Amino acid sequence: MWGKARNLTSECLDCSWRKTSPPAGDVLMQGLTYFKHCPACGGENMIRRESTDIEQLVERLMPWRRVD
Ligand SMILES: [Zn+2]
Repeated sequence: MWGKARNLTSECLDCSWRKTSPPAGDVLMQGLTYFKHCPACGGENMIRRESTDIEQLVERLMPWRRVD
């Protein structure tokens, strides 16, 4: 199961707005997989994270592994 593309979650630290987006390789599409501003409150404290801890670990340990 390792190496599968994972969902991405964008989350606003100001108002707890969040959106899980389907994986799109390494492409960041603002408004779809990447949010510069929170659509709900306009805040800039956005974070983006992978869906699970284990998949983040795989990404960190094996950066050569491509998921697209
Ligand atoms: Zn917000």
